[in-house]
Amino acid sequence: PPVLVRVKNAKKYFKLKKGIFTKNQQYVKAVDKVSFEIFKGETFGLVGESGSGKSTLGRVVIGLHEADEGEIYFEENEITALNKREFQKVRKEMQIIFQDPSGSLNPRMKVQELISEPFDVYTKMTKKEKEEKVSILLEKVGLGVEKKLSYPHELSGGQRQRVCIARAIALNPKFILADEAVSALDVSVQAQVINLLKDLQKELGLTYLFIAHGLNVVRYISDRVGVMYLGQLVEVAETEELFDHPLHPYSAALLSTNPVADPKKRKDKIVLQGEIPSPANPPAGCRFHTRCPIAQEICKTKVPDLVEVQEGRQVACHFPLLTNSKEETE
Ligand code: SF4
Ligand code: MG
Repeated sequence: PPVLVRVKNAKKYFKLKKGIFTKNQQYVKAVDKVSFEIFKGETFGLVGESGSGKSTLGRVVIGLHEADEGEIYFEENEITALNKREFQKVRKEMQIIFQDPSGSLNPRMKVQELISEPFDVYTKMTKKEKEEKVSILLEKVGLGVEKKLSYPHELSGGQRQRVCIARAIALNPKFILADEAVSALDVSVQAQVINLLKDLQKELGLTYLFIAHGLNVVRYISDRVGVMYLGQLVEVAETEELFDHPLHPYSAALLSTNPVADPKKRKDKIVLQGEIPSPANPPAGCRFHTRCPIAQEICKTKVPDLVEVQEGRQVACHFPLLTNSKEETE
């Protein structure tokens, strides 16, 4: 399938405040040499514990954080090589939806102004044109036209998120980063917003990078999923493949915590030993070796690369859970 976004060896470190006892500058290795691709028209889900670097990676992909190293391609453009002005043009094609709509919506602006803000920045539309376009957008996201005159505080959480979605699609982007976009909403409202995102994807040909800690939400919306651990991707696979038989021991443990309705698909919960290490000081070798139930000597020193172990399936592990992975579930 055609690739929309290609990430090659992306790295993003953040400086830590120097402590009294630390002589050397320390860094949080939020994203450490990550490579992956997002196909046109798909939803790529990203899962991992908090602090695994999901949000940083998402922000690096759309250029909200500048990568320290590595290359990001959007279609034919290497966005990491563009200057500010050139990047602004590409940036228009990439939008973001955040978790907390009330935080990203100016409380003093009415819905009409909030949704037409992108037009003021990027277009020369007249007032009338903007009003018409806002009405169309409101309808697309399932809000009544009368909501134009409302302020954010007069709307429910789900309605506010719909306003954010209207803003995000206002300029006909190709790509949307949804970072915990439904996590703050009630479960029933989550489902409605997810279905709206799915409908818009079909209608507008959108590609999503969907970040969430809610595994069932990711499973429901994603075509493929990447699993992150301590700033690195440890597995990339098609969604059902991954959830049915994860190949990386960390994926297996993470997904085993997910409540599954179908009793035949339920697995024993794998409880990991120890705390998640600090991303400022990740373990040598395989970063997961301090908690991995099947770690061997080699794991302490040799870094496992993310490699294709089956078609469309990449795993960073010296001992992926390949044997009996299929037969067991059939
Ligand atoms: Fe576990 Fe070793 Fe695989 Fe890391 S490389 S996940 S420690 S088996
Ligand atoms: Mg986050």
